[in-house]
Amino acid sequence: MVQLAEITWTDARDYFSRCDTVILPVGSTEQHGPHNPLGTDFLNAEAVSRVVGERTETLVLPVIPVGVSEHHRQFPGTLWVPPQVFREYVKAVALSVVSHGARKIIFINGHGGNTASLLEVAGQLRREHGVFALVILAFPMEMLEIGGGHAGAGETSANLYWHPHLVRMERAPKTEQRRSLGPLEMEGLGRIGRAMFPWDTIDLSDSGVVGSAGAVLDASKASAEKIRPIMERFLGELCDLVERVKKADLKELLCRPHL
Ligand SMILES: [Zn+2]
Repeated sequence: MVQLAEITWTDARDYFSRCDTVILPVGSTEQHGPHNPLGTDFLNAEAVSRVVGERTETLVLPVIPVGVSEHHRQFPGTLWVPPQVFREYVKAVALSVVSHGARKIIFINGHGGNTASLLEVAGQLRREHGVFALVILAFPMEMLEIGGGHAGAGETSANLYWHPHLVRMERAPKTEQRRSLGPLEMEGLGRIGRAMFPWDTIDLSDSGVVGSAGAVLDASKASAEKIRPIMERFLGELCDLVERVKKADLKELLCRPHL
């Protein structure tokens, strides 16, 4: 009884009468290489939210499945909305649940490209609406030790952990990222010397597996077994954090008044 979509309004009323915390999974629908599903980021946010919601008895809202992903637009199937639309939509969803009594909102976010927008929304909720919202990535950063990059071995391992039937491991590529943009040498993700530029995935990669300029990424090294202990520790830490947020006195989490 923790998925909002599966309970009735009277159950929701009972929940909000005793608890002011909800989990809002957020993701994106975007290419994740030739081997991972387009839904990777929202499916993983949903899966993490479901486990954390069940273990901590926290209400989980329906996932927001389209986010800030325009930098993947040359790959068929990718969907996106402009950041301002995303922010307004997420904020409106949050305020609707606030109208019922929620005061603490935990965004479990499966897509790094959403993070800046979600933090901005969280800031507005805290400063203007007396709501404490925080943003948690839906994957453990330690998975990058298995293999870095978007759709690389780490993220592919997360998919194998949550929904192996959606991964086409026989297509998992080993790729070398491009190093130059025309005559200019790229560094990292979206840097040219000291400058940053608005990179698209396709500037670095034709497969959709993307990482730092020049990096070799081998998605075929992914496995559910490699990520299992990392994911289980991560889920335990998330549950612990959610419990602490739920117990905290809201007044102590909100913005302080003027001196
Ligand atoms: Zn992803």
